[in-house]
Amino acid sequence: MSEENGKAIESTAPTGGAGLPAQASGAEPVEGKDTAQGFHNPVAGFGVTFKAMFKKRLTEQYPEQQKTTAPRFHGRHQLNRHPDGLEKCVGCELCAWACPADAIYVEGADNTDEERYSPGERYGRVYQINYARCILCGLCIEACPTRALTMTNEFELADSSRANLIYTKEQLLAGLEEGMVDSPHAIYPGMDEGDYYRGLVTEAAPGTVQQPAVSKGEVVQEAESTFGPEEPASGKVIGR
Ligand code: SF4
Ligand code: SF4
Repeated sequence: MSEENGKAIESTAPTGGAGLPAQASGAEPVEGKDTAQGFHNPVAGFGVTFKAMFKKRLTEQYPEQQKTTAPRFHGRHQLNRHPDGLEKCVGCELCAWACPADAIYVEGADNTDEERYSPGERYGRVYQINYARCILCGLCIEACPTRALTMTNEFELADSSRANLIYTKEQLLAGLEEGMVDSPHAIYPGMDEGDYYRGLVTEAAPGTVQQPAVSKGEVVQEAESTFGPEEPASGKVIGR
């Protein structure tokens, strides 16, 4: 504190309190301690490096060597089918409403006896997932009431175009397995929607034929005279 113009003025200069270097406080430096710190500090700075040198290496040779993901990994979505090939999606849009990233777009439509994609009343006519938005959180698959939507272990979703990151229903739909006929086709004779969900339908009924997708612009083909009498009058036979 000093006196100026008759007033006492607080000095703002360092006073050598706690945290100030010894020089600032006017204290004499302790020579041995400073020498030890001068050696220790650079060595301590390499501590993490030295420790890492003796640990097992974590380098992965991706993409040449692909690592197996966890069984319940959240990867690309899949739209599932019933065991006869009909689609499980009923176009309810619950997945789209549950999505926090607004990444799903669904348009439902009515099935008809001539063009049936799912056992019930409705099916997902348009289904898109935008992987430029999706954060793979899995809330959509939790919301799905029919287990139509699940996630696979596929994680290679990068692309150079935004348009290519919008996956369509055709890309998301599960492939055909043994005993399936591609949709649209008739419901299993004598079964209803509930029977499908109770697991009573295990494969396509014998003679099941894929129907023409009239809503997608396919035309009904008339029977050709070269076909034998047992061949179908329209559409193409995919399964048995
Ligand atoms: S995983 Fe999450 S972000 Fe992706 S579509 Fe489903 S709800 Fe949306
Ligand atoms: S995937 Fe599931 S929740 Fe989404 S529209 Fe289809 S049935 Fe509904």
